[in-house]
Amino acid sequence: MRESLKQCKRIVIKVGTSTLMYENGNINLRTIEKLARVLAELRNEGKEVVLVSSGAIGVGCRKLQLNERPKTIPEQQAIAAVGQSELMHIYSKLFGEYGYTVGQVLLTRDVTDFPISRQNVINTFDMLITQGTIPIVNENDTVAVEEIMHITKFGDNDRLSAVVAELIQADLLIMLSDIDGFYNTNPLIHPDATMFHEIHEITDDTLKLAGGKGSEFGTGGMLTKLAAAELCLKNNQKMVLTNGNNPDVIYAIISGEQVGTLFAKRKEDILNG
Ligand code: ADP
Repeated sequence: MRESLKQCKRIVIKVGTSTLMYENGNINLRTIEKLARVLAELRNEGKEVVLVSSGAIGVGCRKLQLNERPKTIPEQQAIAAVGQSELMHIYSKLFGEYGYTVGQVLLTRDVTDFPISRQNVINTFDMLITQGTIPIVNENDTVAVEEIMHITKFGDNDRLSAVVAELIQADLLIMLSDIDGFYNTNPLIHPDATMFHEIHEITDDTLKLAGGKGSEFGTGGMLTKLAAAELCLKNNQKMVLTNGNNPDVIYAIISGEQVGTLFAKRKEDILNG
């Protein structure tokens, strides 16, 4: 099963705030720099990569020197607006070091519901990839709030990354988090938890194993990651969840090494539909 990852050409990488920021609220430049180098190297090898990056609010808080995340939605949207451009500035600089240009793609959930919007998004991704740029995706926080008649919010970037993988028909989604993989219970609370190397389907029993989120900046915990995995499995796509503290892990994954948790359908299940 792992061997098949060597053939993956189109790859979505999702990076969580806990990978991009230190617990103290500062930006983890070393990890971001390494991430940019690894993705640039994958492009050099001929792979196609799309980055889904969280971090706008965290980076915005740093930029505005706020010690804690404000509570109201307009405040969070304003901070995200500041943080998003700051984050793109950092990515642009670091990818630029390795000869790559980045393109910002901000999405709202309604793109999945309206066929013309959906096609426009797909066209943009295709063109960015053809141009050799690195698309960097986030939710459009200015527009996306919970509404009843017009659903604009993905809610979390885990789900967004699986939707992006679906839109661009990626072979693989690599989800970088602050944990080595999916365990039979939350390892932060139970140190004797054991990690799954492979999961072939998401059942109610799987969902019961997901505990709370890991860090102050963490977003959805394991539940949103399992929801993303479920969408990938439905689309016969693969997902690997692993720790993003050393982005070199991406090389190991696409060399077929057994790192993190691989979510993939069994071959026979794909054949039986
Ligand atoms: P991110 O910011 O990367 O999206 P989150 O904090 O949202 O990260 O989610 C990762 C956290 O989920 C882990 O640090 C861990 O504490 C928690 N978690 C809960 N249940 C599990 C489980 N069964 N296996 C692994 N991690 C779990």
